[in-house]
Amino acid sequence: MKEIVIVGGGLAGLSLGIALLHRGVPVVLKEAGSYPRHRVCGEFMNGVTIQTLKNLQIAHLFDDAMEHSSAHWWVGDRCVLKAKLPRPAIGMSRWEMDEKLRKEFQLRGGQLMVKSREICRPREGLVWAAGRELKRESRLLGVKAHFEGVKINGSLEMHLGRGCYIGLTPVTKDLSRVNVCGLFTQYSHSKGENPLIRAVREGGLTQLAQRLEGGEIDRLSLVGVRGVGLGAQKIKDDLCVIGDSERIIPPFTGNGMSMAFEAAESALASLYRYAQGHESWDQTRKEISQRLDRRFQTRMSLAMKLHQLLINPYGLKVFSVAAASGVLPFNWLHRRLS
Ligand SMILES: Cc1cc2nc3c(=O)[nH]c(=O)nc-3n(C[C@H](O)[C@H](O)[C@H](O)COP(=O)(O)OP(=O)(O)OC[C@H]3O[C@@H](n4cnc5c(N)ncnc54)[C@H](O)[C@@H]3O)c2cc1C
Repeated sequence: MKEIVIVGGGLAGLSLGIALLHRGVPVVLKEAGSYPRHRVCGEFMNGVTIQTLKNLQIAHLFDDAMEHSSAHWWVGDRCVLKAKLPRPAIGMSRWEMDEKLRKEFQLRGGQLMVKSREICRPREGLVWAAGRELKRESRLLGVKAHFEGVKINGSLEMHLGRGCYIGLTPVTKDLSRVNVCGLFTQYSHSKGENPLIRAVREGGLTQLAQRLEGGEIDRLSLVGVRGVGLGAQKIKDDLCVIGDSERIIPPFTGNGMSMAFEAAESALASLYRYAQGHESWDQTRKEISQRLDRRFQTRMSLAMKLHQLLINPYGLKVFSVAAASGVLPFNWLHRRLS
């Protein structure tokens, strides 16, 4: 069997590594950071099926995960939609999820090199799963933190403000700990105040900011990422790419983690044939890229249009009226976006 080298030990890289190891393929994984760690993420996984998790040999890692079945959408200080999710979402903190995957990868005999930042150089047998790249031209900032003492309604609260959206979801079954994660287009850089609460207030979400002030933030969980570039990513010729490095779906869908797992699933069969010597690297890479296009193109294009609507003041008004009057096709959108 030929060896596969994966760069990036996030969800796409680790799950692909585990699935390849299960088929007897030797895998080396190079990760720039270390584990466990907090990640900027809403920690609400929408869309992934049990079959995908089983195909990747990781379904058992989610046995004790939370199941989220409802979502409340707010525009400003007004709740405009209470929806039951057609298919439950999975809830787990990234601290826990990435660590579980890391352990499973090593348990199966994978070679993990942490604090190993690679330079992107395409070569045979190398899969790039290094997540999003900094896009200097992008104004999008993602911030997340865990809070205690913040009461939550339902399993997901999605708050839409001026040029921003923020998701709240419980990360413990007793609901005592809540993840708060937002994507912002406008923010200031003043020192002192908690940057997440400040950005929430600057987005016009006064009530939410007050609720967060009433809770206690876990300072260590406060992480941010700037220059988030959504949509298809620029990919070097001859590079085999999966996950956020390939394309990034707008976070309001809660579908990015599912897409990372789905991308690993889509890449698996071709990489296995390559490792067995039945397929050339060039053919493998092209097959993977075509499969990802077929699987994600429609979902991505709808999500990008809706994202533009949600961060635009007029679009937000249209959304708000449609949601409050019951004409928003929520179930249809949910199915198409996951
Ligand atoms: C604000 C925000 C909120 C989100 N909320 C949700 C949500 O609620 N639900 C959801 O499903 N998705 C959400 N997402 C998206 C989700 O987090 C990602 O889609 C998912 O983590 C992608 O997985 P990945 O494995 O491709 O990348 P990552 O999980 O980012 O992993 C990439 C890994 O590669 C490593 N790396 C980077 N460069 C190198 C290098 N040069 N060499 C070696 N290693 C490297 C990184 O350290 C990292 O560990 C959100 C994203 C944002 C920005």
